[in-house]
Amino acid sequence: MQKNDTAQVEITDIGVNGEGIGKVDGYTLFIKDAVIGDLVEAKVIKAKKNYGYARLMRVIRPSEYRVEPKCPYARKCGGCQIQEMSYERQLQFKEQKVRGNLERIGGFAPDFLDRVTEPIVGSEHPFGYRNKAQFPFGTDKEGNPVTGFYAGRTHDIIVNTDCPLGVSVNREILEIILDYMRKYHVPAYNEKEGTGLIRHALLRYGFRTGEIMVCLVVNVSSEKAMRDNASGIIPHAEELIRRLTAIKGMTSITVSPNTRRDNVIMGDSYEVLWGQGYITDYIGEVRYQISPLSFYQVNPEQTEKLYGLALEYADLKGGETVWDLYCGIGTISLFLAKKAGKVYGVEIVPQAIGDARRNAEINGITNAEFFVGKAEEVLPEYYVKSGQADRGKDGRAAGGMDAHADSGTSGHADVIVVDPPRKGCDQALLETIVKMAPEKVVYVSCDSATLARDLRFLCENGYELKRVRAVDQFAQGVHVETVALLSKLKIDKHIEVELDMDELGCCEG
Ligand code: SAH
Repeated sequence: MQKNDTAQVEITDIGVNGEGIGKVDGYTLFIKDAVIGDLVEAKVIKAKKNYGYARLMRVIRPSEYRVEPKCPYARKCGGCQIQEMSYERQLQFKEQKVRGNLERIGGFAPDFLDRVTEPIVGSEHPFGYRNKAQFPFGTDKEGNPVTGFYAGRTHDIIVNTDCPLGVSVNREILEIILDYMRKYHVPAYNEKEGTGLIRHALLRYGFRTGEIMVCLVVNVSSEKAMRDNASGIIPHAEELIRRLTAIKGMTSITVSPNTRRDNVIMGDSYEVLWGQGYITDYIGEVRYQISPLSFYQVNPEQTEKLYGLALEYADLKGGETVWDLYCGIGTISLFLAKKAGKVYGVEIVPQAIGDARRNAEINGITNAEFFVGKAEEVLPEYYVKSGQADRGKDGRAAGGMDAHADSGTSGHADVIVVDPPRKGCDQALLETIVKMAPEKVVYVSCDSATLARDLRFLCENGYELKRVRAVDQFAQGVHVETVALLSKLKIDKHIEVELDMDELGCCEG
């Protein structure tokens, strides 16, 4: 097929980005917004030798899985990919995506996966679940300030203050900011020129506490922000504050300076304009302080289920030493701490570790300790320092306590939890985990392809995959979280001896 050709296509599969896939005379077409089961008319926009990309022109016969999207901008906006697919079918798609990666990349046999896989944990609220949104600001042709979402793969702003994935108060906040900008001629940022003031608004909402955060990302240097304070940067700040604080739950209004010319939204620091520099929220019984710059899961309802599963898989009895690698603001660490003997968290972002320590404190948790650094560097270092490295895999018996006295921490672990970014765990880290030989590894993953790769390595090096379960944190989007439990393989001495005797040709009779 060639560019601009049109064809009728039966959609028979779903691509990794949620697009429909169909074949025309053996030629594969990827069609955004087409739903598996649809018969569509599509126009080729890019043609390669064996496959191409096409635009959905018309749905000729809708699939049984096709639903009316809640958002009028669902196709244009880059935020959602599969809003036109029923939620049940979305869950099935995600389950199959994880399964496919475990088979293809992980090398696990289908019947083995049938035994260890548990059904995906879906959400009761596939809309209105997000506690965080970042809205870019710009200027329309008439010179009015606008805000909304970026269209897929571009920086064109689709004007929309009412995203159905977020909370309804966002709209009220954005309308106040826009109104204030119009009234005082406060310019939105111009990305091409690097001029203007208001770049983004980061909005966060604590579902359990009702606390609201507004952080305005502004086009001024951090030096100027420190010198002038937040109120010196925002013209007529008192009026903006007065109107925003009339909203019930408003807790924190901050300003983050950012003059970068790239895609990074937030600045490296923030100044308080009104209230405190953070909001508070809960996951389970644990209270977390969340500042504008820290990573916090966007779907608290599903996060509680995710961490609950991690806790269930870890099956702590009370005295265990647990390492939580890639710990962010200590969310999983603190969730586990109440059931563990000691938890060590490792995270690369220093501010996040600051938050983690403070979060431990406000929850009265004294058995959690946090380290700043790369997981793949911190863990091997402590393993070697603690002397465990010289004791081989059975160093366990010599135990954590004396090692603890030597180095201030323990190179020993009963359970290691990892929750890496999409690229997965570093090879050096996986090798250290194998050397440390914890009884259990709990792997929380946001990319099942790298999960599968890492599970393969661990299973080739003395571990066995026991349980795996996907959790849907991102309804209407294509990403999916997965939790996996690995157990150290036990070598039964008795069986070993029997095997040796068999090999020698001995038998009891
Ligand atoms: N477990 C946390 C955070 C998970 S996101 C939670 O559930 O909230 C992954 C985290 O890994 C991020 O906070 C990121 O800053 C951190 N990170 C990325 N690369 C890292 C590395 N090499 N070593 C340690 N932490 C890293």
